[in-house]
Amino acid sequence: MNIENRYWQKDIECMSREDMKKLQDERLVAQVKHVWDNVPYYRNLMEEKGLTPDDIKGTDDLHKLPFLSKADLREAYPYGLLAKPLSECVRIHSTSGTTGKRVVAFYTQNDIDVWDNCCARAITAAGGTKEDVCHVAYGFGLFTGGAGLNGGSHKVGCLTLPMSSGNTERQIQFMQDLGSTILCCTPSYAAYLGETLHEMGLTPDDINLKAGIFGAEPWTEEMRSEIERMLGIKAYDIYGLTETSGPGVAFECSEQSGMHINEDNFIAEIIDPDTGEVLPEGSKGELVFTSITKEAFPLIRYRTRDICVLSREKCSCGRTLIKMTKPMGRSDDMLIIKGVNVFPSQIESVLLKMSDTTPNYLIVVDRVNNKDTFEIQVELSKTMFSDTIKSVSDLEKKIGAEIHNILGITAKIKLVEPKSIARSEGKAVRVIDNRKLV
Ligand code: ADP
Ligand code: ZN
Repeated sequence: MNIENRYWQKDIECMSREDMKKLQDERLVAQVKHVWDNVPYYRNLMEEKGLTPDDIKGTDDLHKLPFLSKADLREAYPYGLLAKPLSECVRIHSTSGTTGKRVVAFYTQNDIDVWDNCCARAITAAGGTKEDVCHVAYGFGLFTGGAGLNGGSHKVGCLTLPMSSGNTERQIQFMQDLGSTILCCTPSYAAYLGETLHEMGLTPDDINLKAGIFGAEPWTEEMRSEIERMLGIKAYDIYGLTETSGPGVAFECSEQSGMHINEDNFIAEIIDPDTGEVLPEGSKGELVFTSITKEAFPLIRYRTRDICVLSREKCSCGRTLIKMTKPMGRSDDMLIIKGVNVFPSQIESVLLKMSDTTPNYLIVVDRVNNKDTFEIQVELSKTMFSDTIKSVSDLEKKIGAEIHNILGITAKIKLVEPKSIARSEGKAVRVIDNRKLV
């Protein structure tokens, strides 16, 4: 099927660079005035830098504005950054609290409409139309995943299945009975659904899925191939965070190489996480977003702590929206083990290249006698599990050597029985750090 030229809002998704800059300039100026007038917290931050709204004439002045961090959001909890009266707000969502205290975000009806359109762009880019049955297995509730994709699916006109996560066999039953064609969930839950499908004695031919839209947590290219194979689909990435609405800030197109950022709503910058200096296009650094259309909870220069690269290279899909690479993990996800920076995604890449292991793993870090210990528990495939001890120990050595190759440090590899590592229905837990360094 040719999905290359299918857009949800073509005039925006394919807008010329000049027109997009003009739109961003206008929206940024208005947004700065909005927060200055309505959010004392912002006014203080700007005053501390000696700024007034008159200093911001467009995106070229963006760098003058102060950053906002997750600590600010926690300090301002719950209403300190609200820019509209509560009577004009229609919804609240909250972060999943992966890294600490939750943050709450507010939405006006217009904020919801903008968000739904962002998700509709993602669904359309993955080949979705009103003929599709969209199976939303992200969690519903305060978490943004379910609500975001559900709203996008309604906009597109898909027949929407608000499944939420959990009850995995029933999910597959519904997929079969109701002919789900697009699956939306976390990549780790997609892998679990794939595993369950096979355990139920079914193959991708027994279901009707053609595409998946997966995000909310880091995942590797190897994981993508694994999910595509297990479910017989094309798997597309989607990115977002509660603070900037939820999923749909950026989405993947048919090229499947990086995500287009919805620049009419979000201005992206890459900064050096240590100095705060804005880095040129193509540099790896921390992603910073300014939401220029959000009414209830606008964020100016919000530091996401996600590490990635931006690129304006021409994309074969025809969209002109800037692209971001898959975040390789957040700066606060990064482990420092034996003095070396380690991202769980690096370990996932190694493990998924091995044919005898499953995509389920757990990194366990501890400190014994002032030295870090580093163990990786990896689940064996069923066939490998019944194999001889010799081949199991050969596999341990092979994985250990690959990890050493990539990270330069030694990990203890512990192969464990199939199904012994807990499966996740939402965001996967990949790390147990017992060092209590903070
Ligand atoms: P929490 O910060 O509590 O996890 P959210 O549910 O809002 O709250 O999660 C947003 C974060 O999830 C992002 O900052 C990013 O680290 C991660 N994330 C979201 N989508 C992706 C994706 N496609 N790839 C990698 N990481 C992602
Ligand atoms: Zn594209």
